Amino acid sequence: MIPIGTREALTEVIPAYAEPVLSIDRVSRTYPGGVTALDDVSLTVRAGELLAIVGPSGSGKSTLLNIMGTLDLPTSGRVRVAGQEVTELSDRRLSALRGRWLGFVFQQFHLVGGLDAAENVAAGLLYAGVPRRRRRRAAADALARVGLAHRVGHLPHQLSGGERQRVAIARALVNEPALVLADEPTGALDTANGEAVLALLLALHAEGTTIAVITHDRDLAARTPRQVEIRDGRVVSDTVDRSRG
Ligand code: ADP
Repeated sequence: MIPIGTREALTEVIPAYAEPVLSIDRVSRTYPGGVTALDDVSLTVRAGELLAIVGPSGSGKSTLLNIMGTLDLPTSGRVRVAGQEVTELSDRRLSALRGRWLGFVFQQFHLVGGLDAAENVAAGLLYAGVPRRRRRRAAADALARVGLAHRVGHLPHQLSGGERQRVAIARALVNEPALVLADEPTGALDTANGEAVLALLLALHAEGTTIAVITHDRDLAARTPRQVEIRDGRVVSDTVDRSRG
C-alpha cells in the first residue's frame, strides 16, 4: 500500500515532488570586461536525474557548471543547492555546503599523484570530519561501486586513463553527495575508455545517483535521459527522453 497524505510520503513514491537538489532561477553572469556568458538561465535538477548540458565551445557551459557547483556566483538571479540559497552564505558556509552536497568530476581527473586510489578517494571525506579508519572503509566501498575493488592500492600512474577517471568518480561519490557535477568526463579518454565511463555514469544513475554532465559531445548527450542545450549563454532546449528515464 502506498502511504499518502504527507509530503514525505509523496516524495518517496513520486520523486518529482521532492525539493530540487539544484535550482537555478533567471541567472545571468557577466564577466568583468563585459562578456555575458549566461543570460537569464533557469534550470532545475531533481533527485535521481541524469542530465547532459550540451553546447559548443564558448556557449557558457563552464560558467554554468561553476555556478551550479557554487564555485562562482551569478551577477543576477538565484541559485539554490539542497534548498539553500547560495548567494546568502559566507565563504565558509559555502564551502561546507559544497563539501557536503556536491561531488565534482573533471576532464583531467585531478588525482593526487603520490596517493593511492583509496587515499585519493578518502580525500573526498577529509572535510567531512570522518575518522581515518572509516574514511578508508568508505573509500574501499566507493571504489567497489565503480568496479575498482582490485585497484585500491594502485597509484594514479599505475592506472589507465579510464581507471583514473573511475577513481575520480569514486572520490565524487564517497560523501554521498546530492548532486555529482561532471565536466567533460570522457573528454580526455579514448573511445573505449570513454564508453566505459559513460556506462558507469548510466549505471550510477540507475542506482539513483543524481548526475549532471557538461559536454560538447552531442552523441554522449543523446544517451542520457535529459538534454539541456545551451547556446550563446541561453538554454535553447530542455528535452526529457522518458524511455531512458
Ligand atoms: P564553454 O564552457 O561552453 O566553452 P565558457 O563558459 O567557458 O563556455 O565561456 C562562455 C563565454 O564567456 C565565452 O565567450 C568566454 O570567452 C567567456 N568567458 C569565460 N570565462 C571568462 C572570464 N573569466 N573572463 C571573461 N570572459 C570569460
